[in-house]
Amino acid sequence: MGKRIIITGSRGWDEPMSIMLALASEWDPDGVLVSGACPRGADALCEACWRSWGGRVERHPADWSSGRGAGFRRNAAMVELGADVCMAFIRDGSRGASHTAGLAARAGIPVKRIHATSAPSIDGFQGVFRFLSNFSPDPVVCRGGLRYPSAEHAFHGGKTNDQRLRERIAAAPTPREAKRLGQQLSLSSLQDWNDRGRHLVMTAVLRAKFSDRVLAARLLATGDAVLIEGNRHHDQFWGACGCRTDRCIGPGQNWLGRYLMALRSEMREELIPSAARV
Ligand SMILES: [Zn+2]
Repeated sequence: MGKRIIITGSRGWDEPMSIMLALASEWDPDGVLVSGACPRGADALCEACWRSWGGRVERHPADWSSGRGAGFRRNAAMVELGADVCMAFIRDGSRGASHTAGLAARAGIPVKRIHATSAPSIDGFQGVFRFLSNFSPDPVVCRGGLRYPSAEHAFHGGKTNDQRLRERIAAAPTPREAKRLGQQLSLSSLQDWNDRGRHLVMTAVLRAKFSDRVLAARLLATGDAVLIEGNRHHDQFWGACGCRTDRCIGPGQNWLGRYLMALRSEMREELIPSAARV
């Protein structure tokens, strides 16, 4: 059975990013989000976020016709049903949210209190943020119609104009295997690839990938979060390695994160071309 997650929060909460990051830490595809179903603020943002990931929502709207205290009775009913965690998005001392959090704590349910932050960051493309990784199983169709199973496949296919090699890379069973094949290619000019080629191919691949409307919406939903391709495999070029050894001194260049943020800005301005070019 999945987790039960009670959410409660201020009606005035208008910052989706901190909600997304907090819920991401509790994400369970079999879990259920238990909401007081307020049509705005934290309840509405939590429900929209959870549903966008494919999660189930259990709504408990208050019966306002039953008179004063309907909200408090509803909160008590939600807590009585039990939960694994209660997440409270409290701003300006919301009475309703504080009440639910207090009841949950008394019932022995762990309570997490969340505060809005101004510049959150997504450091590592895992879990619900896996779609940001080039290894996510989201297909990319390149100019000419060849369909790659992932952005990683498409990136390595973009290293060559040889259609047979491209098809071989597209047929690789995993992104890791596509990467291995791509790294075996002898490039006509390694210098040009390093200086320009890889940047042009990566931006084209990301454009093609995020021309998908669902993925585009997910990218836009990351708001103003700083996107960092945090990794442990010492990639300081596309990402930022967190190994803390001498091998990776200083901040990573994070080119993948930067291109994703640039694409997000472009999409916001609706400048994204509909034709995918790889
Ligand atoms: Zn490292």
